[in-house]
Amino acid sequence: DAKHKFNLHDGIDSTLMILHHRLKANNRRPAIEVISEYSNLPEIECFPSQLNQVFMNILANAIDALDESNTGRSLKEIEADTNKITIKTSVENNNVKISIADNGQGMSEELKSKIFDYLFTTKAVGKGTGLGLSIAHQIVSEKHGGTIKVNSVLGEGTEFVISIPIIKWRE
Ligand code: ADP
Ligand code: MG
Repeated sequence: DAKHKFNLHDGIDSTLMILHHRLKANNRRPAIEVISEYSNLPEIECFPSQLNQVFMNILANAIDALDESNTGRSLKEIEADTNKITIKTSVENNNVKISIADNGQGMSEELKSKIFDYLFTTKAVGKGTGLGLSIAHQIVSEKHGGTIKVNSVLGEGTEFVISIPIIKWRE
């Protein structure tokens, strides 16, 4: 695995394409609306396939959270509250910042404190491994010298904010 100049928007967009089938309408809900608000990002020197893995893990969780927030609701109720994933990018203080937010089930304070732990999951056996966010954290912090933070309100939604230095990164 080698470091390359990489446009993070390409990574996000190709991950969304891989998740296309999960974003589409199904018998339980209408399609998830994906809103991409991209600003002009510089390419960064990084491990592209690893960052794509981070986008995959976070976006798959967002879809899971939207599905979970719909359980027990009628289609009419679900349609009244559009399922959304909003992705925003920006540059701040020599960091590239990526925000990925969903209006799914959200998290309690207690849950929030555990989600980056290795093998922590609230999902049924076969649906979750509890690896996604611990791997994402490792890739962002150890491999790219960045940070990954979560904001969440139970019943309202969740936002993950990834910040990666543009100039300085670790081997
Ligand atoms: P897994 O998805 O296999 O359970 P992760 O490490 O990806 O493992 O996530 C850990 C836990 O964090 C999930 O089981 C879930 O409880 C919580 N979580 C992660 N992302 C979200 C989200 N967008 N909304 C609500 N809960 C989330
Ligand atoms: Mg996951």
